[in-house]
Amino acid sequence: MYTMGIDIGSTTSKTVILLNGEQLIASSVIKAGTGTTGPLRALEEALSQAQVSLNEMAWIIATGYGRNNFQMASEQISEISCQARGVHFLVTSARTVLDIGGQDAKAIRIGERGEVLNFVMNEKCAAGTGRFLEVMAGALECDVSQLAQLAAEATRVAAISSTCTVFAESEVISQLAAGEARANIAAGIHQSVARRVAGLAGRVGLVPDLVVTGGVAKNRGVVEALEEELKLPIRVAPMPQLTAALGAALYAFQSAKRGGKSFHIV
Ligand code: ADP
Repeated sequence: MYTMGIDIGSTTSKTVILLNGEQLIASSVIKAGTGTTGPLRALEEALSQAQVSLNEMAWIIATGYGRNNFQMASEQISEISCQARGVHFLVTSARTVLDIGGQDAKAIRIGERGEVLNFVMNEKCAAGTGRFLEVMAGALECDVSQLAQLAAEATRVAAISSTCTVFAESEVISQLAAGEARANIAAGIHQSVARRVAGLAGRVGLVPDLVVTGGVAKNRGVVEALEEELKLPIRVAPMPQLTAALGAALYAFQSAKRGGKSFHIV
């Protein structure tokens, strides 16, 4: 039996197709989120990778910020529940999940069975999210995926004091004009994101094991800065950008097995 999870974020659309609720047979990440063709393209790419037709999907669950605007799903479940489910499947010992996405960040406490115990969210401000990193990468004239490599060459951390993205960008421009090394500024940018996320993590109560997910988890510089802020080891989830889509596909398998009865998890 095939099931699909589709995670429609603000920045990217991700899908996972599972065979019998345990074997990942296809996945996709498209750099376009809700309100674009991204969700449909992500779905089509995964179907073509799996060589399975849409009709063969027993159940499709949409999650993420744009989950309610996607007509092709059988059901919608919040990304908090799906993150917890996906992370628990991959890292059973996980008790706190720090999910850093394109425009928000979340700290989720989960129990021994992967159930959500508590969560806090930053969705009002770009600071501490992928958007902040993208704006700063633009000021440093590199791609967001190159920031970690750049910061690895830092000889010191050039602190960015503004948390506001607009002011922080001006600060980066001023530091460049004053001759500060790009690598040191990149390290400062990572520290700024890490401080913001650490604040969020503190509010949910940090219980190890700590697992980081979301596209920003692919940035080693942010992960290392976060370990420094929290003074705790952090595990990057395997396929960190796909964990919510995986959780949705796992829930979809359960729903399909129950004959298409939904969970009513919000
Ligand atoms: P959302 O689900 O909120 O749409 P994601 O969890 O996919 O967003 O995160 C998107 C962010 O992930 C981007 O803004 C970017 O900062 C970061 N990101 C994505 N790919 C990479 C990469 N290869 N290296 C570093 N950062 C990345």
